[in-house]
Amino acid sequence: MEKVDIKSMDITELQELLQELGEPKFRAKQLFDWLHAKQVDSFAEMTNLSKSLREKLGETAAINGVKIVRRLVSQIDGTRKYLFALSDGAIIESVLMKYEHGNTVCISTQVGCRMGCKFCASGLNGKKRNLSAGEILDEILFMQKDSGEKVSNIVLMGTGEPLDNYDNVLKFLHLVSCPEGINIGQRHISLSTSGIADKIETLAKEKLQITLSVSLHAPDDETRSSIMPINDAYPVERLMQACRYYFDTTGRRISYEYMMARDKTDRPWQADLLAKLLKGRPAHVNLIPLNEVAESPLKPSRPETVRRFQQALEKRG
Ligand code: SF4
Repeated sequence: MEKVDIKSMDITELQELLQELGEPKFRAKQLFDWLHAKQVDSFAEMTNLSKSLREKLGETAAINGVKIVRRLVSQIDGTRKYLFALSDGAIIESVLMKYEHGNTVCISTQVGCRMGCKFCASGLNGKKRNLSAGEILDEILFMQKDSGEKVSNIVLMGTGEPLDNYDNVLKFLHLVSCPEGINIGQRHISLSTSGIADKIETLAKEKLQITLSVSLHAPDDETRSSIMPINDAYPVERLMQACRYYFDTTGRRISYEYMMARDKTDRPWQADLLAKLLKGRPAHVNLIPLNEVAESPLKPSRPETVRRFQQALEKRG
């Protein structure tokens, strides 16, 4: 019998599990506290639970988490980059960055990715599998424990398309912001998507307080489709319709990520079109210098082109 993934369970689900094991429901909060606040790796360490309950839990449930493979620490700014192995040996990456406004972690939601963005190394080998809610959470728990630093901001911008792992990511968002757990407020969480329009609308209905970050990267269908295959399924107009719905439903301003690629996304007419596209929408635009990937012909924009592009956007409000 496959063991249940106990770190992915919320308090209600833990109560149900305990009832099935013939135990009182109130133990669920203790169990949740051990897993999420005290962050133990084994049932044996849960000393306020009876020995028989710990044994029953060991037979029915598994505490799946990440194991460290490699850690790189920057001598300049203290950024910590982690290579983690999951229980089946799959590998993911996570990063902890230190800023004045607090520590931010960038985490993965899938092993690989199937979205095929042309500028991205993470998706080169396609998607292997989704991460469970508990595995996504454990990236943060591990980095917090390992660095001895409290994490205050989370960005779901590592490997994977979060909305392609919708249910587990939604579960994770509830677990990580749960007052009985590590309790990181939803306003401190950004979820980045390549633009799965119908999932953006589904997410809007949850009325979460998170920041939605849309990887737009080009304002016209021809360019966007040539670098992001998702644009064939959800062209720019359809995506913008979903973004409008997201703002109208949640009241949360959207961040638009825009990658500056030389002679591809950085042309003057694209700055004009981008400004036109976002006119009248509460929007934050983040111009990102392209990170060169050996397998991609895309090159970063020249610094003076980026400045001109920025000025063109500012001029148009
Ligand atoms: Fe890479 Fe994100 Fe695109 Fe996936 S969605 S291929 S992880 S940029």
